Amino acid sequence: MKTRIIYGPILSRRLGRSLGVDVIKKAGTKKNCNFDCVYCQLGHVDYKIKGPEEVEGAVTTEEVVEGIRSFHRNIENLDYVTFSGTCEPTLNLSLGSMIRGVKQIIDQPVCVLTNSSLVDREDVRSNLAEADLVIATLVSGNEDTFRAMHRPADGIRLDNIIKGLQAMKSLKKRPRLGIEVMLVDSTNGYPVNSTDEEITKLIEVLKTIDPDEIEILTVSRPPAEKFIVPVADTRLKEIARRFDAEFGRDRVRLVLKGLRRDRSNMQHENLEEEVYDLVLRRPCTYEQICASLGISSVELAPIMEKLVSSNNIISIVSKKGTYYKAS
Ligand code: SF4
Repeated sequence: MKTRIIYGPILSRRLGRSLGVDVIKKAGTKKNCNFDCVYCQLGHVDYKIKGPEEVEGAVTTEEVVEGIRSFHRNIENLDYVTFSGTCEPTLNLSLGSMIRGVKQIIDQPVCVLTNSSLVDREDVRSNLAEADLVIATLVSGNEDTFRAMHRPADGIRLDNIIKGLQAMKSLKKRPRLGIEVMLVDSTNGYPVNSTDEEITKLIEVLKTIDPDEIEILTVSRPPAEKFIVPVADTRLKEIARRFDAEFGRDRVRLVLKGLRRDRSNMQHENLEEEVYDLVLRRPCTYEQICASLGISSVELAPIMEKLVSSNNIISIVSKKGTYYKAS
């Protein structure tokens, strides 16, 4: 089954309808990342990339520009082009030239979703500076919790990430900086970031970064580790109130439940491949596949039957429903 580097549209509250770009080719069906987060929806991996120099299968600027050129005509009302996907996009050091290339052929703003691991590098910050919006993950202000939750590759340290994010905010020409705070709970006492002490420390650190916006959310898809569970809505609201009081309501967004998805105006060239690409990148329920691709369950049914019977995708049953992922 062929996979693409362009996999739009993806939908989110913050980014609306956005065309996703994956800038590192996947290793089979495995993610390609320098973190191994306990909450990762792509599952656990043993091997982590240490840095850009170790990346194999980096996509080129030409591939991205060509991909955007041929793909974006199929989608109306695009709000963003978003660099994200099954890897950490900043691991590809051509990211800056890719963003410049994309901006020459499309008017929509460009967003990069990053796990923040490399923001202490000046070359990575100048690549990010080409974007209009950078949404960077920061889950904790404590090194130990950071390590427990992200299980980063050797050499990645929270204090360097914090310095990198502070430096991003003081760039002369800079993108809007959003911080994504993924909050989780655990069933077995594993260190997580939703306790009062953790929130106090995170707020303290975020004040030194002074981001333009902060998004608070919890896991909504099956996480890599079974002992990781979503934070209850009541607790999320309590935490959001603390952030509101410190940063102002305008800067803080709380995501409680999956969004209502609008029908996409995408014209499909090969629906079977598009369904496979979608579940390859993240496990989805039947409803989520329909919403993401703007198709009905009647259209999806024969495709799912074929993909499941050929063992290209499998189902996983979780408390939140039945999800489908690449096998
Ligand atoms: S959640 Fe993102 S940063 Fe963490 S391991 Fe998965 S792909 Fe990497």
